[in-house]
Amino acid sequence: MVVRIREDVCRGCKMCIRICPSRAIEMKGSTAFINGKCTGCGSCVSLCPMGAIEKE
Ligand code: SF4
Ligand code: SF4
Repeated sequence: MVVRIREDVCRGCKMCIRICPSRAIEMKGSTAFINGKCTGCGSCVSLCPMGAIEKE
């Protein structure tokens, strides 16, 4: 599973950073992005209160 964060929707609350078991989410300015450590576990997708994290 490929997971990505929509920069236009993310509000930078950092909840996804705290939940990710692989330390795969970082902040870039005021929005979050997924780095190369993502295993595609999907835990962050339903967590995001903005619905900014998508599965592809
Ligand atoms: S949980 Fe959603 S809104 Fe919050 S930082 Fe992560 S992607 Fe952005
Ligand atoms: S899918 Fe899992 S490993 Fe990838 S960023 Fe989300 S919580 Fe982290």
